[in-house]
Amino acid sequence: MQFDILTIFPQFFESSLQVSLLGKAITQKKLNVALHNFRDFATDKHKTVDDVPYGGGPGMVLKPEPLVNTIESISGKKKSKCILLTPRGTLFNQKMARQMAKLDQLILICGRYEGVDERVCELVVDEEISIGDYVLNGGEVAALVLLETVARLIPGVLGNEASLSHESFNEGLLEYPQYTRPPELRGLKVPKVLLSGNHKEIEAWRGSQAIKMTKKRRPDLLKKLQNEKKPAKEPT
Ligand code: SAM
Repeated sequence: MQFDILTIFPQFFESSLQVSLLGKAITQKKLNVALHNFRDFATDKHKTVDDVPYGGGPGMVLKPEPLVNTIESISGKKKSKCILLTPRGTLFNQKMARQMAKLDQLILICGRYEGVDERVCELVVDEEISIGDYVLNGGEVAALVLLETVARLIPGVLGNEASLSHESFNEGLLEYPQYTRPPELRGLKVPKVLLSGNHKEIEAWRGSQAIKMTKKRRPDLLKKLQNEKKPAKEPT
């Protein structure tokens, strides 16, 4: 899968793209990440990317030409989506990540300052996405969140694909509690069932713990799951 990231701070991504599973996946060519500094596509000799907002107000706005010109310089793949990271976008979740992992290409635009000229959205953006109800200084952190979440769903990127099927949000639930050695630490024992070797019982325990955890911490998820499972009402 191809990721194209538009940013004025490409150096922001350097270490993240070199280490751990992401670094390995890039080395193994399971995915490719191209960083595009849209300052290079500015139209004046000073390479200006921002300007004052029309109508007044604080801060600066990213000019449309450098962003649009950069997007037009990127060779588009068949199944491609251009995403603007913005606090006003749709809240990102695992379901959206799963859909994105089926694409050939994700183009991510990292805003800065007060955001981007609205015409960029009309001309090149397919979807606006937020990573949460808070405001970051720039879209780079948000782009990394999308990149890492989507990349680990690409077949072959995770060492053990089985981990995907059990983790939080996969079946609409949070994950069950995990334990490793030692079997007892400062009086706290690992639940007996996990040491029993009885896989059926372990599975059942994990299932009930996942429900308990979700009920306690994210009852909204459980409600959503129950609604999805309800048979659709027969038309009258
Ligand atoms: N003036 C904007 C507003 O009030 O919505 C905030 C701009 S913010 C300081 C600069 C850039 O950071 C945004 O253009 C966007 O790319 C990125 N950003 C900030 N918060 C974000 C979030 N929660 N999700 C995704 N991107 C975010």
